[in-house]
Amino acid sequence: MIKTAEGFNVEKIRNDFPILNRKVNGRNLVYFDNAATSQTPQQVIDCIVDYYQNYNANIHRGVHALSQEATEAYENARRIVQRHFNAKDFKEIILTSGTTHSINLVASGYEKFMTAGDEVLVSGLEHHSNIVPWQMLCEKTGAQLKVLAMTEEGVLDMQSFEDLLNFKTKLVMVNHVSNALGTINPIEDIIEKAHAVGAKVLVDGAQATPHIKPDVQALDVDYYTCSAHKICGPTGVGMLYGKQELLEELPPYQGGGEMIDQVSFEKTTYAGLPNKFEAGTPNICGGIAFGKALDYMNSIGFESIAAYEQDLLDYATQRLNEFDNIIIYGPNTDAKTAVISFNFQGLHPYDVGTLVDKMGIAVRTGHHCAQPIMEFFKIPGTIRASFSFYNTKAEIDLFIEALQKANSMLL
Ligand SMILES: *Cc1c(COP(=O)(O)O)cnc(C)c1O
Repeated sequence: MIKTAEGFNVEKIRNDFPILNRKVNGRNLVYFDNAATSQTPQQVIDCIVDYYQNYNANIHRGVHALSQEATEAYENARRIVQRHFNAKDFKEIILTSGTTHSINLVASGYEKFMTAGDEVLVSGLEHHSNIVPWQMLCEKTGAQLKVLAMTEEGVLDMQSFEDLLNFKTKLVMVNHVSNALGTINPIEDIIEKAHAVGAKVLVDGAQATPHIKPDVQALDVDYYTCSAHKICGPTGVGMLYGKQELLEELPPYQGGGEMIDQVSFEKTTYAGLPNKFEAGTPNICGGIAFGKALDYMNSIGFESIAAYEQDLLDYATQRLNEFDNIIIYGPNTDAKTAVISFNFQGLHPYDVGTLVDKMGIAVRTGHHCAQPIMEFFKIPGTIRASFSFYNTKAEIDLFIEALQKANSMLL
């Protein structure tokens, strides 16, 4: 059964988000910058407060009660993440500081496996954090970086993918959803074709996970990443999923406490998974809150979230199309998540963003950490409105009113 947006109790959900009650420049806040970071529900805020009020301690080390409680809560959060992504084993879940950390961890590990002549394939729709670590890897190893082209519609050119893919391709990097345009990429197809030539695939899930619940086993993906702050969790925590056999081979990223088995000045042996990749005291509270955030989102349900957000996206797109000087970038609404990247002809996105902020509306303007996409469209940036399940059509109407004002002031 396909779920519809009907019956979605957005007013009840909004009560979970205290920040939505605040004013900005004298107006009610309208927060449409969810692709940059999501807001935090009271349940997650309470979880953070509870940790510091009641059981703040270092984990995996002390025998005392607080340390045991903190360790149990942290490891329980790892199990929540494991279940959410349907990983086979908890050892495949590395808790990191976020997507950027996760990608750097993998890229740094591949220095061991790459040589001149090898190729890595990066999609043209990537966030800088899924471009730069691979350029650094190529610089160090002599491997070649190839770019998978995108089309005018802002979708990946799958013919270009097949043309570029060959037996020298060691790794393919693609985001599940583009943060700049909202495009949902055909990762199933990419994974299958990459595996056929023996390449591994890293999927940057930072922008997909707020809208889609991925099943890493069904996808047969090799590495998958996300950041908790985009899925109602705190900043500074996230996840790297990797297939166990791949993570076993990958060398540790950082040395330090927690990631070792035995240390002497003659020889150090490393801890098993997942600790091998978790050197030092982690973001304990953040990890626990990450688990809470996933529980919160699952209690609403990703099918309901997707249906409701699709409805918002369709409505906002229809209303934006009332302007005759608007250009919307990226694919049609059925091929993307609830993100609209657009410009007004002849207006600088920054000027529009500044004016609507004066009216209490938060949108992102600029290149969205994806300069190659802006170069492709030959624009300095876009205005990006990104919606979440706690936004409403009434907020979209306020946004349209603000844009009408900005448009007439600037034209
Ligand atoms: C936000 C984002 C990132 C970076 O995530 P951090 O939390 O800043 O590490 C990477 N890729 C995509 C697609 C994103 O949306």
